[in-house]
Amino acid sequence: MTGTKSNDPLVPLQPFFDELKQHLAKTTAENLKANRTPKQLRAVADATFDAFTSTISGIEKLSPPEKPFDCKKGCAHCCHQTVLTDGATALRITTYVRENFSPADRMLLDMRLIAYEEKVEKMTRSQRSLSRIPCPLLVDNVCSVHPVRPLICRAFNSYDAESCKKQIHGGGSTTEIPSWNIPWLLGIALDNGLKEALVESGYSEGDVELGLALKAALDHPHAEERWLAGDKLLARAAWSARKP
Ligand code: SF4
Repeated sequence: MTGTKSNDPLVPLQPFFDELKQHLAKTTAENLKANRTPKQLRAVADATFDAFTSTISGIEKLSPPEKPFDCKKGCAHCCHQTVLTDGATALRITTYVRENFSPADRMLLDMRLIAYEEKVEKMTRSQRSLSRIPCPLLVDNVCSVHPVRPLICRAFNSYDAESCKKQIHGGGSTTEIPSWNIPWLLGIALDNGLKEALVESGYSEGDVELGLALKAALDHPHAEERWLAGDKLLARAAWSARKP
């Protein structure tokens, strides 16, 4: 997913978002260094999601979006873009799938992940960015991991679903979609804070493609422990591993 643009005035909240990012990066790195356990890793991802939700909720009360969003359950144009996230979030989603999916749903997900990998594995970064392949976590146009979806998915919003359809499926740019840009700017800030903390803690794959990271992690029964111990099992999902 890429950035959105809106008619909102220049956001005076950016310095506050930058401070939040610094705070998140510092506390996350400290927490991970002190306690490299799967439980801590989940807590780190959850704390980032909570920071996003509570901050947006506070801002919304003081300065709401200029009009209602056109986003609703069953509308999934935005889920046809490349989702880049971080290792902690990808592993948080992996755990959610293991704990919440029925055996039948898990089997269907595994099949979608295999098909997804076959489609995208040889693409360059630019080919992948332009392809409109649905996220393998999308089921009947609904996110199957909604409570733990990545920050980038939480931040995306639109005042006009027709514009999403036109821009995303028509090969246009998502910057043309009218939207409330505050969640987007906050999402980027917190996402960067989490990624900085992970790099500082020794997890350096950077941006990972969600579908490929999930496939790699679900292939290993103890993915979180292995990743925390330094196993580069998400390296093949790294965005930087693709040719430009
Ligand atoms: S993780 Fe969920 S919200 Fe994000 S692109 Fe996939 S299906 Fe859509």
